[in-house]
Amino acid sequence: MKAAVVRQDSILVEDVPKPRAGPGEVVVEVRYCGICGSDVHRLAAGGFPDGAILGHEPCGVVAEVGEGVTEWRGGERVVVIAFDPCRQCRWCRRGEYQLCLNKHWIGLGTNPGAFAEYVKARSTMLLRLPDQVGDRAAALTEPLAVALHAVRTARINLGDTAVVIGAGPIGLLVTQCLRVAGARAIGVIEIAPGRAELAARLGADKVFAPGSDDLAAEVVQSLGAEPDVVFECAGAVQTLQDAAELVRPHGKIMLVGVSMKPVPIIPIVWGRKEAELKACIAYRDEFPLALELLAKDEVDVESLVSEVISLEDIGQAIKDLQKPHDQIKVLVEPGE
Ligand SMILES: [Zn+2]
Ligand SMILES: [Zn+2]
Repeated sequence: MKAAVVRQDSILVEDVPKPRAGPGEVVVEVRYCGICGSDVHRLAAGGFPDGAILGHEPCGVVAEVGEGVTEWRGGERVVVIAFDPCRQCRWCRRGEYQLCLNKHWIGLGTNPGAFAEYVKARSTMLLRLPDQVGDRAAALTEPLAVALHAVRTARINLGDTAVVIGAGPIGLLVTQCLRVAGARAIGVIEIAPGRAELAARLGADKVFAPGSDDLAAEVVQSLGAEPDVVFECAGAVQTLQDAAELVRPHGKIMLVGVSMKPVPIIPIVWGRKEAELKACIAYRDEFPLALELLAKDEVDVESLVSEVISLEDIGQAIKDLQKPHDQIKVLVEPGE
């Protein structure tokens, strides 16, 4: 089969053996798999082993089931959860699967991912797609689960005022999940005009450009109050401190954007607010909820898809995403 394989800091399409389903495993024919920001940044940093097949946001159709797998049949439409928790460590026993000490991942360098015609997963990593959820929307289940986990972790109250910094895929999904969670006034801070426009279309009450000295005052004027919670979804150097400048006293700052770089904070600003900082990663058990919201059309994910590309174009697409760009979500369609 064809697969996109990591070779140094690039990705090349090669012919590799098609995976076979072993006991307890399923092989899925990949329909779509999103390119994640983490693929783009880790590849540039040389963070993947030579020969790795990336792609951890797949949906597709069951192609082969291994020995002992009774719950899946060929032809069923599925989404694949990117990791399988061990279900035995102290965090799994508390249901905190995102903190599992022994996760089995696909597409992050250890086990092959879904930038390929077929991907192999454990049968426990699959979820059935409702008929109402199309294939393209299904490929956004994983980032939607990330956004849902962030909003759940923030414990939004009915009527809260919220600000989201950064309108990339996660910021745009957090914005929509905030509305579902009962936030009243939602502001988004975004520098790129295309993303700012999309944020407004997807439910932000007001979109602000970053950088102005009076941003905190503008936010209060437009939203009616200092935000109860600010979501940092940009992963930029300045944005965590920006969040502290905006949040209300005793407000909460959610650290959602993942970055490897140290960021400066000015402790006195945090002190004066007695601000609370809460970080989150991946998802706990939000996949079924994500599918339910998609099936009921409560969240628009298809508007986030800015381009669909073939396997052959991944290498160039990732190089383009490493520079400033106005893409939102790029999907790979291996069957194209
Ligand atoms: Zn991802
Ligand atoms: Zn575990």
